[in-house]
Amino acid sequence: MVGKLARWLRILGYDTLYFREIDNGRLLELARAEGRRLLTRDARLTGRLPDIPHTLIRDDRPELQLRQIVREFRLSPSAGLLTRCLECNTPLEPFPREQAESLVPPYVFRTQKRFSHCPNCGRLYWKGTHEEHIRTKLKELFGD
Ligand SMILES: [Zn+2]
Repeated sequence: MVGKLARWLRILGYDTLYFREIDNGRLLELARAEGRRLLTRDARLTGRLPDIPHTLIRDDRPELQLRQIVREFRLSPSAGLLTRCLECNTPLEPFPREQAESLVPPYVFRTQKRFSHCPNCGRLYWKGTHEEHIRTKLKELFGD
């Protein structure tokens, strides 16, 4: 129920773990061990979390969920934009452009100056139209 929110938080550059299926006991153990805040739609779960910081997500719609979290924790929608792997949450590192040539479509290589990659899963990133869509969406949600 918060998978898209998790993805958005990674897009914004925030360290975010997400589990589609996880045992509640294990989830709480992890939150405790790593000092994480738990974001959930599950009011029964937040009712029994005296020792773990947590936030009940109020809305079903991912965009409103994101708005809630950004406002509540005064997150920056743009400071860390696209600095973290969307798949595995690892901070991205610069990737030499000449090495990207054989890995991306020719059009992408011609039009992109900078590439980054995930040192954990190896996924390659560049800005392109994806970033424009994201910026447009963030502008709709948060203004300039
Ligand atoms: Zn990754």
